[in-house]
Amino acid sequence: MKIQTYTVVVGDRTCNAQCPYCISCMTPSYGLATPSMRNFRIGCELARDYGASTMFLTGKGEPTLHPCEIEEYVMLGRKYGFPLIELQTNGILIAEIDSDPETLGFLERWYEKGLTTVSLSIAHHNNAVNSRLLRPNGEPYDIWKAVDILHERGFSVRISCMMMLAYVASGYGVEELMRVCKEHDVEQVTVRGIDRPDVTRNNEKAKWIDDHYLEHVNRDVRKHIEATNGIKLLELPHGGIVYDWNGQSAAFVPSARYAPPGALDVSVGIQTFTGPRRSQYGSAGTLGPSPRGNIGSQDAKCQADANLRPCMQPSS
Ligand code: SF4
Repeated sequence: MKIQTYTVVVGDRTCNAQCPYCISCMTPSYGLATPSMRNFRIGCELARDYGASTMFLTGKGEPTLHPCEIEEYVMLGRKYGFPLIELQTNGILIAEIDSDPETLGFLERWYEKGLTTVSLSIAHHNNAVNSRLLRPNGEPYDIWKAVDILHERGFSVRISCMMMLAYVASGYGVEELMRVCKEHDVEQVTVRGIDRPDVTRNNEKAKWIDDHYLEHVNRDVRKHIEATNGIKLLELPHGGIVYDWNGQSAAFVPSARYAPPGALDVSVGIQTFTGPRRSQYGSAGTLGPSPRGNIGSQDAKCQADANLRPCMQPSS
């Protein structure tokens, strides 16, 4: 068995966005609660022993709402020898760093501790369109400012864009996305079509996805890239393809629905949470004040606990 990526779920389901295609809202919470550092360390050893090169920090909500937890995982990831440590985020807190010096401090600490890459999830390369889709109140934020902030601090940046009807929906749409990414020196671009599980916990989101689902988008976009000087660099074991497209690195990632079973061999995800739920910033939700602004929970249950929690104690 070969493992490529060790995926770690940071935080809980709290999020400061409200994407209409949010997969988190449609799937069970899997008991997200207090991190089990014991399980985390076991996962590190397992992934490292089977050759994983990348630790990937993602979330069922927004990971940057749990900055101390990220710091702890990055520090330990370095200690366990992962050369690449990546963070997935919607980038809202990073784009708004001017009004939040605390996040700036965390960014610098994550870099010092060994975070190498930040992957920014977007729905469109136009800031106004992207903000309207992601933010509960549509308040604009500048994703390209987040890219500049990350570059200034030495991070590699990946843009991960969801493809859907009426937004980025074709080879020409991806070409335009790539052009904008190139203007901002983005190192990697990943695109994938929106999709949903067959059994959903949120009918409204599921309907939105059904209305915007693009059945053949991966095939059509790949054809377009190959017809416009795209050079296939790599076929990933889980079905993704990486291209060099006019000097830019572009990757297709299949949706869960189409990933072949072999995908299970290349990625190990470990649930590091046990016991009661936690968040050092609480989950005040859209109904209450929060030290991090208007933070929305992905699940009504998450709104029950609005108390501030202390940061995790860093381990030695
Ligand atoms: S950013 Fe938040 S709302 Fe959007 S998909 Fe991720 S968890 Fe869901």
